[in-house]
This record gives sequence, C-alpha cells and structure tokens, in this order.
Amino acid sequence: MEERYDVTIIGGGPAGMFAAFYCGLHQLKAQLIEALPQLGGQPAALYPEKRVWDVAGKAGVTGQELADDLAAQIEVAPVDQFLGEKVTDVVKEDDGSFTIHSAKRKSTSKSIVIAMGNGAFSPRKLALPGAEELEGKQVRYFANHKEDFKDQRVAVLGGGDAAIDMALMLEDVAEQVYLVHRRDAFRALEHTVAQLEASTIEKLTPYLPKDLTVNADQSVTLNLKKMRADEERPLEVDKVLVNYGFTSNNAALRDWSLDLASERGQIKVDQTMKTSVPGVYAIGDGVVYEGKVALIATGFGEAPTAITNLAKELYPDKRMATHSSSMGIG
Ligand SMILES: Cc1cc2nc3c(=O)[nH]c(=O)nc-3n(C[C@H](O)[C@H](O)[C@H](O)COP(=O)(O)OP(=O)(O)OC[C@H]3O[C@@H](n4cnc5c(N)ncnc54)[C@H](O)[C@@H]3O)c2cc1C
Repeated sequence: MEERYDVTIIGGGPAGMFAAFYCGLHQLKAQLIEALPQLGGQPAALYPEKRVWDVAGKAGVTGQELADDLAAQIEVAPVDQFLGEKVTDVVKEDDGSFTIHSAKRKSTSKSIVIAMGNGAFSPRKLALPGAEELEGKQVRYFANHKEDFKDQRVAVLGGGDAAIDMALMLEDVAEQVYLVHRRDAFRALEHTVAQLEASTIEKLTPYLPKDLTVNADQSVTLNLKKMRADEERPLEVDKVLVNYGFTSNNAALRDWSLDLASERGQIKVDQTMKTSVPGVYAIGDGVVYEGKVALIATGFGEAPTAITNLAKELYPDKRMATHSSSMGIG
C-alpha cells in the first residue's frame, strides 16, 4: 500500500534538511525530496569549499562540511530521503491531503513544507561571443574544486559578495586572482570588502569584459573596456570565473496546482511559516515576510517554527517537547 506521510519537505538545502531532522525528532513520518543528486542546497552545490562564518556555533565551516553535518544530524532520527527527484506539482485533494508529483513517482502527504530556496538555480551567463563554447573549460560558473584553479591566473567577474568570496577562496591556490567589476565600489559586506583590501587580489575597476579570445596555449585573453571611457586593456588568464549572480526559477511554482500567495516570486508566509494554502508551510530563502533576511541561520530558525506548528495542526492532542531536544531522541 502507498505510504502516506505526515510531512513532505520539498528541497534539501539547509532549511529543508534541518526541517527533516526536526520531523524525525518529533517522530513525524516525513519524506525529504531533493532535485539534485546530493543534499546541501546552495552551500554544497555553489560554494562547497567556501567558509561560512555566520551559522551559530559553526564559525568557519565550509559549505560541504555544513551539508555533511546536517546529513549526519538527520541520521540521529532518520526520515525517508529521495534524491535526484524534482517535484513538478503538488495537488491538494478533496480530503485535504496532498499528492506530490515528480517524474519518478507520486506520493501522498498530510502536509507540505516548501524549502526550495529560489528554485533550481542557474548562473547568469557571460554574454560574450564564444563564451558558451568555453563553458566548463576556461569559463566557469562554479568553483566546486579549488584544485581546478591551482597555480592558474584567474579572472573573477562580478562585484557582489559571491564574487569576492570566490576570489578570496581562490587566493591561496591560484597563481594570481583578478577581480573585474564594472563599478569602483563593491556591493558586499564591509567585512568581506576589508578582507579583499588586505588580499593579494588585483582589482580591475571600473571595467567590463568586451570580448574574449582563446590563445594557442589555451589561455584566454579578456579584452576589458573601461566604463565611460575609450580605454581598453587585455587581461590574459587561464580561467574566467563568472559571478554575475543566479537566476532562480521559482516561476515553476506558478505552474503547480497550489494557489500560493506570493510577492516578487517569493512565497508569502505568516509568523508560523504557514502559506496561504492550509497545510502548506514554506521556509528558507524562498519565503517573504516583513524583515526577512535570506541567510542559513534564518532558515534554521524557520524550520522548527514550521514543523512545530504543523505538528500541532496534524496532532492537536500530541504533546511535543519543544523546550528540550533530548526528550525527542532515544
Ligand atoms: C556564493 C554564496 C555565498 C553565501 N554565503 C553565505 C554565508 O556565508 N552565510 C549565510 O548564512 N548564507 C550564505 N549564502 C546564502 C545561503 O546559501 C542561503 O541563504 C541558503 O542556502 C538558503 O537555504 P535554503 O535551504 O532556503 O535554500 P537552498 O540552499 O537554495 O536549497 C534549496 C534546495 O531545494 C532544491 N529544489 C529546488 N526546487 C526543487 C524542486 N522542484 N524539487 C525538489 N527540490 C528542489 C534545490 O535543488 C536546493 O537543493 C550564500 C549564498 C551564495 C550563493
């Protein structure tokens, strides 16, 4: 007979993983569904070797270590996990339950927690002729393995936190890191900019890449044009690491059968993380409420709020030990 879950968590990033652990802690029958073949969301997929400093009790943990720690935490009170399975629709049935659809299977659940971040993410591309053919070779959008950049000249393109983070991360392995940004000022945290100032990274501002050519030795020459000026300068590098941000496609949610209230693509939730659809909660980067800050630590707070409140709805008579986690384990 088909399993009927108490809770289905869609998205195995930090918020979804911690929600899964919290379901196990409170002995809710839960499944965690993740589109990628691995858990960990953005930290594991986008910056596995970058250090994260602002997760309580974990200062300096890398993205992958954080994902591994969360996976180990789920094992304390396991829930079912389905990886490499993108949810394509969620249908609310007449009896109030939900049918979850993916390409691989259908499942049913009494409640849903959407923890999809900003949806399946894809990087904003470098819009220069020839860049697409070099993708995955000289032109990169992810820096999953620092070793790929070892002893190389790397041009990091972009001026936000992610670009500076990547440049700083590669500083100790690369021969030379250049940071190319079209403005003189960087849109990043003061602490990050201070680290940049103290680094050996060469800042090239305000420049915009105009074209790129592949040289006989497979290095790449970026032709940089100074903003609001005629000046151009060549920059020869081995790799171009583009950090122009990510486009998210939470737009896919609009095609789902659930009629979720949203604001600029983010799901609206109340203080209990409840969405406009009864039985559906949402947490993490993909939600909006007044004062929302899109950080890992925020998602870690939202997960217990959502699970505790939905458990109260599912089992009004169940007493939950919300003040002490040791009462749920063992
Ligand atoms: C370069 C960079 C550096 C950062 N540094 C920091 C930092 O130092 N500190 C900090 O607090 N935050 C940092 N962040 C932000 C942080 O990564 C996010 O706030 C956090 O990952 C949000 O977690 P989440 O679980 O909400 O979403 P995500 O991490 O985005 O995870 C969502 C998951 O849902 C999955 N998914 C999406 N759609 C579906 C679907 N239809 N079916 C199944 N699965 C689906 C995705 O594949 C993904 O794994 C950084 C972000 C970037 C890009």
